[in-house]
Amino acid sequence: MILEGRAVAQKILGEVRAGVERLRAETGATPKLAVVLVGDFAPSRVYVANKKKAADGVGIASQDFIYPGGLDRGTLLALLRRLNDDPGVHGILLQLPLPKGLDEDEAIGAITPAKDVDGFHPVNLGNLLAGTPTVVPCTPAGCMEILDHYGADLKGAEAVVIGRSRIVGKPLAQLLLARHATVTMCHTRTRDLAAHTRRADVLCVAAGRPRVVTGDMVKPGAWVVDVGINRLDTGKLVGDVDYDSVVTHAHVTPVPGGVGPMTIAMLLRNTLAAAERQVRGR
Ligand code: NAP
Repeated sequence: MILEGRAVAQKILGEVRAGVERLRAETGATPKLAVVLVGDFAPSRVYVANKKKAADGVGIASQDFIYPGGLDRGTLLALLRRLNDDPGVHGILLQLPLPKGLDEDEAIGAITPAKDVDGFHPVNLGNLLAGTPTVVPCTPAGCMEILDHYGADLKGAEAVVIGRSRIVGKPLAQLLLARHATVTMCHTRTRDLAAHTRRADVLCVAAGRPRVVTGDMVKPGAWVVDVGINRLDTGKLVGDVDYDSVVTHAHVTPVPGGVGPMTIAMLLRNTLAAAERQVRGR
């Protein structure tokens, strides 16, 4: 079965749109996302444009803070402080990566956790680890939504996550663990990756390398979530999973059209939730 993230994302965007309308009708407030883009990295420009377009589509306002020529550390931190203090801004999207010379950890830490709609602030990540999730990172949350939508049984399942980044692998492993999967995390020092993947009922791949997983590494009937986005020399966009050799015997997300649209949908869901908390004082 093909796990159509795009379709699941449409469903979630519909729910967010309804939530935005309800908040506006009941409180007069419109959720607003501040979009901070520092530097001139072309893929980031595309990501930001897609996020803003999606926000617009569900009635979430966005305000740009775009600095193609870069920003110095003090000015960036002052901007984030100003946005933290602005009651008209409910969420702050700091597009990563930041240009060289700026400290991402410091910048993420400067965003108030309540407005950290990416869920990368150490307080939000810590809450996830503590089992009391507040704002959950968008991509891992999107992976879970896809698995739930298609009815993957997570309880007691062997789940294997390839990749241990702060934004995908680690939080995803926590979310799977919270759903009672038995989780194995793999990375570049893992010996015999295939021995792990072949055991997996649920296999989530966030390595950032094409063809890290091929059909012979996947158990029949497994649920495979491909987070990777890789641009080949030919210009073609592919995931980390060799889709054609896996789709023959497992459930798998396509790239594009799988996890990517879910990430944006979850960002907007997080933004609505942040606005709800701030406006309604919950
Ligand atoms: P990252 O920070 O580069 O982390 C990659 C992880 O994969 C690392 O932990 C690395 O291990 C591991 N890894 C790399 N090659 C491996 C291999 N051959 N075997 C086993 N493990 C391997 O990347 P990321 O930010 O998590 O992103 C991963 C991918 O997802 C990228 O393609 C990115 O573009 C994509 N992504 C997509 C979305 C979306 O919305 N669809 C969102 C975020 C990211 P070590 O720790 O040992 O180095």
